[in-house]
Amino acid sequence: MTENFTGSFTQQEPIPEAGIAAANAVMQHGRLHRYNTVDGEIAEAALLEEEFAASTGAQFCLAVASGGYAMTTALRACGVQHGDQVLTNAFTLAPVPGAIAAVGGVPIYVGVTEDLVIDLDDLAGKLDQAKVLLLSHMRGHICDMRRLMAMCNAAGVTVIEDCAHTMGAQWDGVPSGRWGKFGCYSTQTYKHINSGEGGLLISDDAEGMARAIMLSGSYMLFERHRAAPPAETFAQIKYETPNISGRMDNLRAAILRPQLRDLATQAARWNARYTAVEAGLVDTPGLRLITRPSAEGYVASSFQFLLLDWSAPAVADVIMRCAQRGVELKWFGGAEPAGFTSRYDSWRYAPSTPMPATDRILAGIIDMRLPLTFDLDDCAQIARIIRAEVSAVFQAQT
Ligand SMILES: *Cc1c(COP(=O)(O)O)cnc(C)c1O
Repeated sequence: MTENFTGSFTQQEPIPEAGIAAANAVMQHGRLHRYNTVDGEIAEAALLEEEFAASTGAQFCLAVASGGYAMTTALRACGVQHGDQVLTNAFTLAPVPGAIAAVGGVPIYVGVTEDLVIDLDDLAGKLDQAKVLLLSHMRGHICDMRRLMAMCNAAGVTVIEDCAHTMGAQWDGVPSGRWGKFGCYSTQTYKHINSGEGGLLISDDAEGMARAIMLSGSYMLFERHRAAPPAETFAQIKYETPNISGRMDNLRAAILRPQLRDLATQAARWNARYTAVEAGLVDTPGLRLITRPSAEGYVASSFQFLLLDWSAPAVADVIMRCAQRGVELKWFGGAEPAGFTSRYDSWRYAPSTPMPATDRILAGIIDMRLPLTFDLDDCAQIARIIRAEVSAVFQAQT
């Protein structure tokens, strides 16, 4: 008898009771705008920034409307202007090249390795083409950050980290988001903490963060922030920086603060699910697991594996057979962008040159969400189904 999985790959856990209570309190007092406070009151948004800065060790933090907004703000605060080239990953999601396009920049794509991180050898040959690298820790895979930072520092390239999939993660003991000039996070529903939409930006750079705060639409109320540079830093910047409204409101901040307190616990639960799927897929013929170096402290919220050098019809067959058994897999190699997956050459607003080594890997990447609503038995069952279907198609091929 064949078993089928019946869970939903898009169902997240409910907002914790403490978050619901805090959200209710904000709705009852009605002061949802972050600068709408009564005497002595500290806005939820300002408290969230203070707490997120403390949790990452960053000096400064800004809460904004989305992860994409955090990235465009970081790019603007780093001085990226219309027509400037910006290095970024070929393996990432559409909001990343979209953020570069939003500021008038032109993405220069850097390849991906078989371990799904940015190809540092490819990067080395392209560092002279841009002043900024928007580095996406795509699907939570973190490259050798010491080597990357040494290369970028030597070349005078500023690093902005897209940490949409690495909240709470670290490389060699240093949190993801703390290596570059800015770390950008998303609090959208499918990320590690959930306010529907939302974003966070961290930095130790006082001038950069003062610009980011002005850009976000602080008016002249920046002194109400609690994780901001001192007022002196704004002396000139407040006149020179446009207001490109994209603040976070107190309702979202209220929902997020209790989730931030639970982040370490949730990270351990996510990783237990990742490990359960991984254990079930070890030594599956034709399937390559992703190696995770010991320096990488990841926080999984999804799972990837490679069907490297498989024919497109065989990959499509695996995806269809798994779907029939209730296991939703996404394929990064598809010619047409579908759902959340897409490839660098489908972003036609940004020119790209063919990258054969990267195309080979993209053509084999299979991606799966792992929401916390799955338990460990679910994960073991999902792995059994994938193993059986990959093995069946692989044997038929050879
Ligand atoms: C979700 C995501 C973003 C952007 O986050 P939004 O809050 O949806 O704007 C950026 N980069 C990656 C890799 C993402 O998955």
